[in-house]
Amino acid sequence: MFSLILKKINNFTAALIESEEINYQHSLLNFTIVFYFCSFVIAVPISLIRVIETGWLVINFFHLLLLFTITCLFFVRKNTSYSKKISILIATFYLVGAVGNYQLGLSSGNYLYFAVSVLLSATFLSLRTTFLILLLIVTTQSAFMYLTKAGLVGYQLSPLIPINNLHFWITHLVAFITVIATPLIAIGWLNSLLKLSQVKLRASNQELLSTKNKLEVLALTDELTSLPNRRSLFSYSQLEFAKFKRNKNSFSVLMIDLDYFKKVNDSYGHDAGDKVLIVVANILLKQIRKYELVARAGGEEFVAILLDTTPEESHLIANRMREAIKNTDIFHDGVYIKITTSIGISHAREADLSFEQILKRADLGVYKAKEKGRDCVAEVSR
Ligand code: GH3
Ligand code: MG
Ligand code: MG
Repeated sequence: MFSLILKKINNFTAALIESEEINYQHSLLNFTIVFYFCSFVIAVPISLIRVIETGWLVINFFHLLLLFTITCLFFVRKNTSYSKKISILIATFYLVGAVGNYQLGLSSGNYLYFAVSVLLSATFLSLRTTFLILLLIVTTQSAFMYLTKAGLVGYQLSPLIPINNLHFWITHLVAFITVIATPLIAIGWLNSLLKLSQVKLRASNQELLSTKNKLEVLALTDELTSLPNRRSLFSYSQLEFAKFKRNKNSFSVLMIDLDYFKKVNDSYGHDAGDKVLIVVANILLKQIRKYELVARAGGEEFVAILLDTTPEESHLIANRMREAIKNTDIFHDGVYIKITTSIGISHAREADLSFEQILKRADLGVYKAKEKGRDCVAEVSR
């Protein structure tokens, strides 16, 4: 039995942690309802035994009402709104407290019902609502004090306490506020602070997450052209190279180097050079398929990875890139700039052990193209 209870509590705690993001307060409220249901199913019948001794009192009816309400809440707790459940719970406890007040006077157990309505409000609602409920309780008690003094209320039970004594009522009122209500409100206040810090924590977590995402994007993107950078190129290519090793699909690499780019910088300025790089990046991007990649490998060198493309097709694509760049007039600061490219091609071979080996051959292809007089596509056989 004990282990079963422990298991239940563990399950509840796990569920609470799991649903923390959804609403831990709602889970806690449902747990409270389950807990009250279990307690009252035992406690209310026991309290009703006293009927034999005292006769049927209005308070007994309210005890039954309490049991009925908790039982209903227990069964509908999963599909009833949070605010409805907590309002019904608080109202029922307050009502039982007030009736107890009327029947048994201040020193009876009704203190606890009032106290519980304060605690529930402080835990599940706002501090302002809690103070309103406290005010309502104090008003109810004061009204009873007045009515008793005026002789308008007589108790059905006559406890051996001086209920007509003003001092008695005041001390009990003060005792209720200071001894019972104050710590309960403090608990509620701490709880609302906790809620607030949770909200703040969640917001700052969200911020951290979006900063992390932004940083991740930044770390993989070239700032100038917005193309994937060298790091991104290597992580993509290594993955694709592993796929090539397994599936033997074709895998080609184009290394694209701008010709005499230094001259562009020297003649038109560094900003003009930057503009050329951006325009070239966009032209290259248009020539590849969605699942392929073109990256800025550094300086004025770009690398394109072509997948499922035969060697003949990669030559065609490389030449299309070369022609497109060559035929573009890049406008900057009142002048048109022309640029050509030398492209090295390499295809993955079964004997290749790494992506770097393929890239190296593409690089040698660039040297060959430069030697051939630039503005062309070349491939080395070794
Ligand atoms: P080659 O035809 O032999 O490739 O000659 P090149 O001038 O293109 O090659 P080189 O390696 O001599 O010069 C590359 C130049 O690219 C040098 C460098 O200042 C310039 N560069 C590198 N990165 C950037 C950049 O981000 N912006 C600009 N504007 N220039 C850059
Ligand atoms: Mg270069
Ligand atoms: Mg160059």
